[in-house]
Amino acid sequence: MPRTSQSLSSNASLLKSKASKHAIFGVVIALVAIGIATLGVAYMKDGGISFDAVVRAQTESPTLWVLDAMPFIFALWGQYVSSIIAYEASAMVIDQTSDLRTQTTIMEQQAMRNATYDALTDLPNRILLRDRLEQAIQSASKKNRRLAVMIMDLDRFKEINDTLGHYNGDRLLKQVATRLQSVIQEPSSVARLGGDEFAILLPRISEVKEVGTIVSKIHKALQSPFVLDTLKLEVQASIGAVIFPEHGTDADTLLQRADVAMYVAKEKQSGFVVYSSKHDEHSPHRLTLMGELRHAIDKGHLVLHFQPKVNVKSNVVEGVEALVRWQHERHGLMQPDEFIPLAERTGLIKPLTHWVLRESLKQCAAWRQAGLNLCVAVNLSAQGLMDMELPDTVAGLLASNDVPAERLILEITESTIMMDKDRALQILTRIADMGVRLSIDDFGTGYSSLAYLSKMPVKEIKIDKSFVMDMENNKSNSVIVHATIELGHNLGLSVVGEGVENAEVLGILDRLNCDSVQGFHLLRPIDGQAFDEWLSKAQEKGDLHIKDGNICLTPAS
Ligand code: C2E
Ligand code: MG
Ligand code: MG
Repeated sequence: MPRTSQSLSSNASLLKSKASKHAIFGVVIALVAIGIATLGVAYMKDGGISFDAVVRAQTESPTLWVLDAMPFIFALWGQYVSSIIAYEASAMVIDQTSDLRTQTTIMEQQAMRNATYDALTDLPNRILLRDRLEQAIQSASKKNRRLAVMIMDLDRFKEINDTLGHYNGDRLLKQVATRLQSVIQEPSSVARLGGDEFAILLPRISEVKEVGTIVSKIHKALQSPFVLDTLKLEVQASIGAVIFPEHGTDADTLLQRADVAMYVAKEKQSGFVVYSSKHDEHSPHRLTLMGELRHAIDKGHLVLHFQPKVNVKSNVVEGVEALVRWQHERHGLMQPDEFIPLAERTGLIKPLTHWVLRESLKQCAAWRQAGLNLCVAVNLSAQGLMDMELPDTVAGLLASNDVPAERLILEITESTIMMDKDRALQILTRIADMGVRLSIDDFGTGYSSLAYLSKMPVKEIKIDKSFVMDMENNKSNSVIVHATIELGHNLGLSVVGEGVENAEVLGILDRLNCDSVQGFHLLRPIDGQAFDEWLSKAQEKGDLHIKDGNICLTPAS
């Protein structure tokens, strides 16, 4: 507390100077008294006042000698008293402020801890980790040593948080922190960077191998299930590591590259990756896109395109599939393959799916108002199906847009269902019970058991376009398509052929009794306004007519 002691000492000197002033007054009064007494004695002895009389009075009167000593006594006494007063005053001030000081110190320490430690896990936070990393870098460069930093992120934590709630998510994070602490021993340290991201600093390593050893210990520590009441959760983690000085010589670069390596580990599902410069190629782009996508969803920079699905026998447009695009200010119109996987990894898929659902139902309601019978199909990603709130969201959006549930189709892929069969069945059953139809998209690309699929409340399968596109020339694909149509019909499902690019394929699918088709041959996906324009133009040209609200295509003669 240098500032407090400074102010105390200056207060003390102020008091001292006040005490000294009184002593000086004493000296002055004593001097005046000596003067008056001397003049009095001189006058009494000689009957007048002269220099000789004053000298005589001073040299011959013992009473005056005593009086002469008074200023010195006053001066000494004054000095002494002033010191005592100052000392006592300081002691009093110190006494009164000591409580205050203790409280301030505690508060300062608490504030310092809050700023550098994570409140949930009590682990160092990003600020402290960065600080320790900087110190470790300094010491490592002085001693010509290496150090390692790892960033660890839990896989699918977002799902756990969304499904079980933040309270349970937090409990899990605390348990993870405890297990990490048991693996990481001094002088190494573990920190929580935020969310489900942790960092581990190994301030001295001699070989890169040591990092691998620690990583295996971490994976092992996380292996046994985490228990939350009656639930047992399996948690895996992806770890990215960097080595100083090979991968960077400052804290920011090292942390950023460890993050890049962690993302690569997540993508590869390999659990652990040591950074390499080739990982950077996609990362800056990816990191920027991630931030931009969040903004794009909020600001409505996404666009929906619609592609019709046509009944082969009746030539009626049964509905449209909503396909999302991102109108990016620099990259132009981005296709879903470029950002859906990113959205899935970063937890943005939930708001994205909600946006697509909302906009699709809005468009469906507009067509309904215009007297058109059109269903709308929305794609659900694997992560989307983990969202326990999805049935309620769908119900709410259907009601608010006044669209009957039968007008909505949700497309899911086989792999989505297989990711967590029980949960998928639970969510899908709730959605199907509402009257929403479910369709298995990209059928044939997964490894799902058909026996299992038939237990799902699905109404339709869409044969993946990779089998359909070239089936006029590819014998084995046409055999697969044929078999799938048969199988689908045997299971009581409606079958859609995707990726119909020419009349020949359309003809084959018709002969194979495929129920509906979708593809560039009929129409490429276009936005809502373009779709309406297409409707009116095609009507004018006689390529279609509308009967009882149904869009009927005129078959090519
Ligand atoms: P998908 O659901 O299988 O959609 C069909 C894809 O095939 C679309 O690609 C469509 O443009 C394309 N396609 C349609 N007809 C033809 C054709 O005749 N030939 C060829 N070569 N392609 C055709 P797109 O729009 O690029 O979408 C790709 C995938 O992205 C979709 O596959 C779907 O899995 C996903 N996706 C699109 N929108 C969304 C969305 O809103 N949410 C989610 N989760 N995924 C979406
Ligand atoms: Mg689809
Ligand atoms: Mg598909």
